[in-house]
Amino acid sequence: MVDHRPALDETHDPARRSWVAWAQAPGTDFPIQNLPFGVFSRDGGEKRGGIAIGDQVLDLAAALAAGLFEGEARDAAQAASGPSLNPLLALGRGASRALRRRVSAILAEGSADQAKAAAYLVPMDRVTLHLPITVGNFTDFMASRFHTARMGAKRDPANPLPPAFLHLPIAYHSRATTVRVSGEAVARPHGQSLAPDGTPRFGPIQALDFELEFGAVIGAANRMGEPIPIARAADSIFGYCLLNDWSARDVQRFEMMPLGPFLSKSLSTTVSPWLVTAEALAPFAAPAFARLEGDAEPLPYLMAAADQAAGGLDVALDCWMTTPRMRAEGATPARIVATSLRHLHWTFAQMVAHHTSNGCDLRTGDLLGSGTVSGPEPDGRACLAEVVVEEGGLTLPNGERRSFLEDGDEVWFTGRAARDGFVPIGFGECRARIDPARPFPTA
Ligand code: CA
Repeated sequence: MVDHRPALDETHDPARRSWVAWAQAPGTDFPIQNLPFGVFSRDGGEKRGGIAIGDQVLDLAAALAAGLFEGEARDAAQAASGPSLNPLLALGRGASRALRRRVSAILAEGSADQAKAAAYLVPMDRVTLHLPITVGNFTDFMASRFHTARMGAKRDPANPLPPAFLHLPIAYHSRATTVRVSGEAVARPHGQSLAPDGTPRFGPIQALDFELEFGAVIGAANRMGEPIPIARAADSIFGYCLLNDWSARDVQRFEMMPLGPFLSKSLSTTVSPWLVTAEALAPFAAPAFARLEGDAEPLPYLMAAADQAAGGLDVALDCWMTTPRMRAEGATPARIVATSLRHLHWTFAQMVAHHTSNGCDLRTGDLLGSGTVSGPEPDGRACLAEVVVEEGGLTLPNGERRSFLEDGDEVWFTGRAARDGFVPIGFGECRARIDPARPFPTA
């Protein structure tokens, strides 16, 4: 039998330890097997590329200037030194893989470069993390069958999936300009929706929701008119992040027929600050979602043996929440969603292959959202709208009720890839607090 799993190398070795002590801390997101890329600044200084290791950030520009890199790794470090990682992404996966192998060697126990490299580590709690890429375009898919079915059940309980869902990964073009990094507050937007009596109203939106999603970032671009075949589609993805596709459900209900959501989705999108590379996730490859008996087989342009065998990702995703009252009472944050990327009906390679199948070009830094990563169980409902549809709202551990988010509520996502025989890796946080609506300008 052909082994379709992505190639593993010494950077995935579970026995490899780092001389950065915190990289071995139980539960850390950033052991030496992860090495995600981000952009940081310190004391208001310039933005620059870095790699997370334990509770530290390796300053790539400083390490480069000190002569720690050569060859392809040097080119990659140069490209990753500036205020955006797009130049690194544009080099393709080979360059970032070379840099990953070199950084892994530098940070490993017993490295001859330890003393030199230690000078270029910055404590993570002393830096500001920024949006790591310049997002060109942002396409949001709807790849979970469970999310799609719950949202469609009200419209047609017998046929909750839209006609195309089982045949292609459905999506819409969302807004790149409002993508923000974790930690930046989301001000409640204004919008137009229907009041209960059926008349249009405009004001602060009332049904603010989160959507727990996973984001894929495009590395090497394709030229317009040149589709990326499914067999090569996974190679076009540089890495992944957590993504919150904030949604104004009251606005969405009114505006979306027939062209789809518009202002209900462009209000803000929050992403986690670290790009976890496709290489780091190689040990956590999983089979694609198994179609149910009676489901149509997708057309050949969406099907490849390797993608079906190992195009999925085994990543557990959680959503956590606090309310102002919970924080005042010193309550433990509530985990309100526990789901897994295994529930996505479509792989990211299928999304890329479909997206480019009409000749559409994807550019370096384009962002693809998975859609709400909901699972079959009640705790897998990965947005509030699904809970509202089924139960009218969410009850928090302290008895507080929420149909949708209120001002002061804080929501964050975490993710973890784990598999026997490998060191688990995480994604950092994708977090934002809801601020009250600002006054709407009248002049
Ligand atoms: Ca979405």
